[in-house]
Parts: sequence; C-alpha cells; structure tokens
Amino acid sequence: MDHFELKDGELFAEDVPMRRIADEVGTPVYIYSRATLERHARVFREGLQGVAEASGREPLIAFAVKANPNLAVLRVLSREGCGADVVSGGELMRALAAGVPPEKIVFSGVGKTRAELQLGLDKQIGQFNIESREEGRELAELAAAMGLEAPACLRINPDVDAKTHEKISTGKAENKFGIPLVHAREVFDELGSLEGLNLRGVAVHIGSQLLDLEPLETAFAKVGKLVGDLRDRGHTITHVDLGGGLGVPYKDGETPPSPAEYGVMVARATSGWDVHLTFEPGRVIAGNAGVLLTRVVRVKRGGNGPPFVIVDAAMNDLARPALYGAWHDFDAVAPTGERMTANIVGPICETGDTFARDRECDALQAGELAVFRTAGAYGATMASSYNSRGFVAEVMVSGSDYAIVADRIAAAAIMDAERVPDFLSD
Ligand SMILES: *Cc1c(COP(=O)(O)O)cnc(C)c1O
Repeated sequence: MDHFELKDGELFAEDVPMRRIADEVGTPVYIYSRATLERHARVFREGLQGVAEASGREPLIAFAVKANPNLAVLRVLSREGCGADVVSGGELMRALAAGVPPEKIVFSGVGKTRAELQLGLDKQIGQFNIESREEGRELAELAAAMGLEAPACLRINPDVDAKTHEKISTGKAENKFGIPLVHAREVFDELGSLEGLNLRGVAVHIGSQLLDLEPLETAFAKVGKLVGDLRDRGHTITHVDLGGGLGVPYKDGETPPSPAEYGVMVARATSGWDVHLTFEPGRVIAGNAGVLLTRVVRVKRGGNGPPFVIVDAAMNDLARPALYGAWHDFDAVAPTGERMTANIVGPICETGDTFARDRECDALQAGELAVFRTAGAYGATMASSYNSRGFVAEVMVSGSDYAIVADRIAAAAIMDAERVPDFLSD
C-alpha cells in the first residue's frame, strides 16, 4: 500500500497535489512519500515479530542503501530504527551523514577496495560481509595493524536459482558473489584463525525482486546446515545475515509474498539457530514509496502501430525498463476516464529509451502530467546524464508538506566539471 492516490480526480502524494510539485519544481521529478516509507519499514519489522519472539532478539533491519541512497530517505528509515547495508565507501558516508549509527551499518560487496575497508574500520561499522578469502586476509591485516578485531560474516554462495531476472540474480554458482558452499568450511577455518578478524557468522543474498519464497528457504536451509557444521568444527557462530530480495508488485496480478509470509518462512527456516539475525531489504521498503512524475512533451501519431506518447523523462532518469525490460505502471495525474493504447517513450536517441510498448493506459495529450509508479527503488540512483540531460530532482512529501531532497543538476553544471586542455587551445 502506498500514499499516491486520486483525490477528486487528481493524483496526490499524501496530501500534496502532484500538479503543484510539477509547477513548483518542474518535471521530471522523483516524489517519495515519507508515510509510505515509514509504513513499509514497520510492516517489514512486524513481519519479523515471530522471528524476534522465537529468538528472543530484535533482528537488525539494514536498509539496502543502493535501492535509494537519498539522505532524506535514509533519515526516515534511520528514525524507524533501520540500519544500513552499504556496498561502497560513498554509501557508507551517506548512511553516517543520515544519522545511521555505525554499529548498525553492514558493508557488503565483492570489490571493496583497501581504502574502503580502512574507512569501514575507521568508522567502526557493525559488520563486514566478506566475499572472498583474499578480502578476508586484507581486512584482517588492516584491522590487526590498528589493534582491532573486525566484526565479520562470510558471505556464501548457496548455488540456488532465485528465479528472477538474470541481471539481479546473485546466488548461483556462476555469479561473482560469495564463497561457494563447498569451500566455505575451509575458508572459515583459515579466516577464523586470523588475528584482526572476529569472524562470527554467515551472510547470504540470492537476488532481487523475488516473487517466490522457495529459493530463499532453500538457501536458508543451506545456511542452517553450514552454521551447524561450523559449530561442530569449533567456531562460535553468533550472527547470520539473510540479505534482502523480497519482491514488490510492479503491475496488477503480481503477488509477491508479503513481509508477514516471509516472516513465517524465516521463523521456520531459522528455528533453533540461536543467532542475531540481520536483514537487508531494499526494494520492498522503497519501491512503492516513490514515483517519477513526468510531463508529456507530445503525442506522435502516424506510424504503423499505436501512437508514441513522448514524455520528458527518459532512460537516463529511470533505467529499469531499458536495463531489465522492467514494467512500471503509468497513470495520468488527472485521468479523464478515457483510455488509449500507446508506446511510451523518452526523448533519448536510442530505441531502448522505451518505457512501455502497446500499453493500455490513460489517454494523454501534450502538456499533461503522468507518473511512473514503483520508482522509489533503483530509480534516481541509477540515473545518468546520457544525452547531456541533467540529473532529475527528488522531492519528499510529508503530509501536506513537501521539500526538495535533491536538487536538479543542470546539464550546464555537469559541463562545468569538464575542461578543454591547453594543448587543444590553439
Ligand atoms: C541489492 C542488495 C540487497 C537489497 O536487495 P533488494 O532486492 O532491494 O531487497 C541486499 N543485500 C545485498 C548484499 C545486495 O546486494
């Protein structure tokens, strides 16, 4: 459920008419709903109530910053008690800047540089998820030099098919992530003995936009078996990180498992583990808490197929359709009740700049406003300046109030960072 609804025939973000945001901030613009973010964080936590009670410990919900790294979004979630799952030094600095306590920060990712590992140590973050033997050795060496023991989990690759888009599947043997299960025990033995490392558990994350709990449960069962084996080998296992991945409905008829159903499965899968659990939800928190508001530039008719509704947003602002063939619902801000079938495209000079083909949608004309829904995760953060378009602005709504939470960056400002060198000046 979100807070982007029709009131008197017009789309509102909470109590703010979207038309007002378009007039005052311009388009395209991302709009986030604070109430929706809060609601999603609470629903996710409530879904894990059974897990918390069974284990006697409150799980850490570390929001996956890569889904939406906007500082205001992170602040909302931090106030809801969430930590942060970060995958770069930049995300780590954002989480801290937004007020996330360092002990609630988890650092994931296969390619953490030495400088990034050092940054995590300097900031005394709560956990490093180590993805290779080499990374574990490097982290141990850096921590030992500071007289520290870095808190860490070993990310394993359970080799399960998450049944999602191949570009966002991360838990198959051929994916770059984690340590293959067959090697996990020996790697744990080696890294667990290193001075500088407090290797205290296991992490897993098999992919994103999962619409089926079964692959997750299969992966968690493998983790449970591994935890038992590691304990048998004398290791002290106190932490398990179960990653993110829960899907969201992008269109009618898509029915991802609810956080409550997920929680029931997790309680079953983790029964008797006796560990601190961490979760890293991204999309399920932020996806439906954001829309991309856009204005129709013109409607071009006369081809073979349906008309082209050309909007002022493009693949550089919202990459998911071009990248993954993803579906985003597309609705008029002031629907008349009339419908049309259209190809919805942006202005960029690539055929890939297509949001939808042969889409049945609200009838739209030049100058009218519309939204792409479910754009709060993997939206603004994937933007580029391709075709020398600027970076889109971001707005957060809170009740009848709204604020610009990221300025529009004009194409001219991007050009200002470029130089023509002296050797080309003659
Ligand atoms: C991307 C990612 C997540 C979040 O995935 P969602 O599908 O957005 O929940 C969590 N953990 C890791 C390690 C990730 O790479």
